[in-house]
Amino acid sequence: MTTKTSATKVEQQEGSMFDAVLARLDIAAKIYGLSEEVAIVLRSPQKQVKVSLPIIMDNGKIEVFEGFRTIHSTILGPSKGGIRFGMDVCDDEVKALSAWMTFKCAVANLPYGGAKGGIKCDPRKMSVGELERLTKAYTVALADVFGPDKDIPAPDMGTGAREMAWIVDAYNKVYRGNFPGVVTGKPVGIGGSLGRETATGRGVMVATLAALKKMNLDPKKVTAAVQGFGNVGLNAARLLSQKGIRVCAIGDHTATLWNEKGIDIQAAIRFAKENNNTLKGFTGGVEIKNTELLTANVDILVPAALQNVITEEIAKNIKAKLIVEGANGPTVPAADHVLQEKGIIVVPDILANSGGVTVSYFEWVQNSYGHYWTEEEVNSKHDTSMNEAFEHVWNNMQQYKSTMRIAAYITALKKVEFGIKAKGKY
Ligand code: NAD
Repeated sequence: MTTKTSATKVEQQEGSMFDAVLARLDIAAKIYGLSEEVAIVLRSPQKQVKVSLPIIMDNGKIEVFEGFRTIHSTILGPSKGGIRFGMDVCDDEVKALSAWMTFKCAVANLPYGGAKGGIKCDPRKMSVGELERLTKAYTVALADVFGPDKDIPAPDMGTGAREMAWIVDAYNKVYRGNFPGVVTGKPVGIGGSLGRETATGRGVMVATLAALKKMNLDPKKVTAAVQGFGNVGLNAARLLSQKGIRVCAIGDHTATLWNEKGIDIQAAIRFAKENNNTLKGFTGGVEIKNTELLTANVDILVPAALQNVITEEIAKNIKAKLIVEGANGPTVPAADHVLQEKGIIVVPDILANSGGVTVSYFEWVQNSYGHYWTEEEVNSKHDTSMNEAFEHVWNNMQQYKSTMRIAAYITALKKVEFGIKAKGKY
């Protein structure tokens, strides 16, 4: 085990996301006492695929895009993980996110391994036609990697139900059949699950309420700041405010707003829908700087946009008592000890945002059975599953006298270790 070496390395190069995974893995492995033979398996993803995708752009010219898919583990079942479209997408990011999916699925007690994929592109600068051609070219290039019982993508940053529908279409054409279970997060009309679109934000809300209860705080008397107003941030802000939590700050890549009396989240949603899903120009609060949202005078901070936003410096200035990580990897490893010393409870990403993959699993089950549940059934199963996962991690936190983040890793390591040992080796 190389705990010390990895931690130092991460501090030196905060940018490497996979090192951020290994840093926490090493700490959890040491506290839990993970066997070295399991640790070395988890340090290397099972499969990494990189494809070049030549696409005819609307101007008639060919552009070549880079596509990635990394399968970190299939020990506990077919690999599961989203597809991200963005200019930052690269080997390191996809590798880190794939490992987090392994641990997230294990924490959520799902019969899945972990994967992640993405295309380096700027979806905001591309037409719908260009995006469709790119998504379908990516699917065809990875058709032998994906499969309902092999590797199952889902939406992530920059993708949504529309892209999932395109993936099903391209996959169906390659294999000449109907395979709705090859992706989750599809539109409801073609095999998607009710409740999937809002599931990650819902999970953030359920995890927040569970943490507040442990902290003896009344939701009606606390305030929150939510960074990101996309799938996760918007739904988290909406559901938190529905539970009586005063959301005083929201923000996206175009604007960050503060209102001490609480932002009217429904008005913000209406505004964003009419303005290309952005908050620029919304007058429900005063504009503040992006980083001011993270250090705002609120009880709860929900980073639900980007990775690496809570640096050591930002952590020193955070006033919230509770951080619920809607985004993947919003906190750099070097900030962990600062938050711990300040007594801030951090519900880590692999637990806090696992509502999305949990309902993805429900969608996949419904696709297999060809029988569909009501939204109430989905939400109720989701809430039960999220609360159980929360309790499990909380108990491990007490047992191992660790942070919630390390306890979540330990929860996952126990399951993955069992799988690796039970299946044996050759
Ligand atoms: P999205 O594309 O729907 O929304 C991203 C949001 O982040 C947008 O509002 C965007 O404006 C905002 N943003 C981008 N740059 C920003 C900046 N510099 N400052 C502030 N805001 C900025 O993406 P999403 O699906 O909501 O994903 C957000 C995070 O949640 C990602 O880390 C993703 O991996 C994670 N996540 C998503 C899901 C899911 O089901 N969609 C599940 C688990 C985790």
